[in-house]
Amino acid sequence: MQGDSKKNQPDLQTIEMEALISRYAVLLLDAYGVLVTEAGGLPGAAELIYELNRRQKPYYLLTNDASKQPVTASERFHGYGLPIETQRVITSGSLLAGYFKEKHLAGARCAVLGPEDCAKYVTDAGGMVVSPADGFDALVIGDESGYPFVETVDAVITEIFRKVDRREAVHLILPNPDLIYPKTGGGFGIASGSIAGMIEAALQLRYPDHSSLKFDRLGKPHPAIFKEALKRSGTMDMVMIGDQLETDICGAKAFGLDCALVSTGVTDLSSGDPAAQHLPPTYLLKSLKLT
Ligand SMILES: [Mg+2]
Repeated sequence: MQGDSKKNQPDLQTIEMEALISRYAVLLLDAYGVLVTEAGGLPGAAELIYELNRRQKPYYLLTNDASKQPVTASERFHGYGLPIETQRVITSGSLLAGYFKEKHLAGARCAVLGPEDCAKYVTDAGGMVVSPADGFDALVIGDESGYPFVETVDAVITEIFRKVDRREAVHLILPNPDLIYPKTGGGFGIASGSIAGMIEAALQLRYPDHSSLKFDRLGKPHPAIFKEALKRSGTMDMVMIGDQLETDICGAKAFGLDCALVSTGVTDLSSGDPAAQHLPPTYLLKSLKLT
């Protein structure tokens, strides 16, 4: 952190992993950019998970990833050398069950964008998965992968336009609001939130007076995933460890939790991210390493 960029940064308290473990009853860990990338575990992650398991320290993974069932995610973590059990994994996809119940969507015809695990989240929530071109009551964007992109998005917007023109209701649901995700080698990929943003832009262009044509967003920074963590842990004495100001940090703060930002993922404070002025995390965590 040098030069002009430093002027834009708030003074933030740095903290060690060991201090977080002793200061809080429960750790909430984001997955991508904190523990893993798509290529495997990040430095210190395997040692941290082994040690948390050995000490029987309560922790949960809070991930906006809706492309994998918790059991699939757990298997992948094990493959990366991170022995994280299924019941510790809280995904944004698993929030669909509560959402469908609240909105009385049992039996709704649902177009689902994403791989097979996304469709399972929807059927488990009570929805009926249909092809986008066959007409639907609800659209769930679960992931950016698993379907022919342009053809599917074209079929989806065509059907939504048709429904709006007929004055029929359509539910737009986005479990994972992330816009981007970090890839190996310093690259980035677009995430499902960017696809929702694109569809919202198309709807805004065609129906400028329909301000309600927006996606309901379920994952971080929205409270549902933190409520699920609270339900499982039974305490607000939790700290969120994340790599994104706009999701992990903003969401934890709004829910009334302390939070620590790592620099191994999306948010790069050394670039003078102006969001850090408005959303300062409680701490900066330089490393997952235990002393
Ligand atoms: Mg992340």
